[in-house]
Amino acid sequence: MPTPKNLEQPRANALNEQFDQERSFSFLENLYLPEIFKALWYSLKQMFQPKITLQYPEEKWDPPSIFRGRPVLVEDNGKERCVACGLCARACPPLAISMQANEDSDDPKERYPDFFEINMLRCIYCGYCEEVCPEEAIVMSKDYDIVFESREEAIYDKERLLVPKEDLQDRLEFLREYKNRQFGQFWDFQEENNIHSVRDRDEEFHSGLSLVEMLEQQRHNDNVEPESEWVR
Ligand code: SF4
Ligand code: SF4
Repeated sequence: MPTPKNLEQPRANALNEQFDQERSFSFLENLYLPEIFKALWYSLKQMFQPKITLQYPEEKWDPPSIFRGRPVLVEDNGKERCVACGLCARACPPLAISMQANEDSDDPKERYPDFFEINMLRCIYCGYCEEVCPEEAIVMSKDYDIVFESREEAIYDKERLLVPKEDLQDRLEFLREYKNRQFGQFWDFQEENNIHSVRDRDEEFHSGLSLVEMLEQQRHNDNVEPESEWVR
């Protein structure tokens, strides 16, 4: 196939001995001096441009809300929002999250993580944990300044992971806008949905049934013989 004329021909190299196809330099290009002065002129111009370099670590960069830094747990009114459902641990590609769920019948939320750990040596900052969390309980913070001196220090426990929601407003707002766009404007995260108590659901949704009645109804439904083979 003939080579198109408007494409630069390959230079001669060890594998290509067609020196006749090599582009020849002009006299000025052979001198190299004009190119050196061009580069010096460019450097000189840049010296008078506004400086964008930060003197890290004295000066810290404030990342935009789209930035995915260290994953943190959202602390809402002094408590973690997390209900220890385990979805984030399941979605985490490098298996960096581990937790143990516990129950507290006095807490309207009923479930909480007894311990919650993220191994920051494994974390790849993918944000999947944030994506799957139904409670907005784990989000990617702006924290990129992460240093450890030992492997043990890289395991962040619940106390180190908790960050008040007031300090995460940028990311939470970004997530709502992002999720809104993702799901066609019908996603509207409600903080009160964090309370997954059957008691509260019964009260709030006015099902007309008490918890005992709901359980009786469930038991009744379980004992009803199916009318067709298809539902067995
Ligand atoms: S950001 Fe990704 S790798 Fe890190 S904890 Fe979340 S899911 Fe795991
Ligand atoms: S997905 Fe959210 S609520 Fe579920 S365990 Fe993870 S942080 Fe907690």
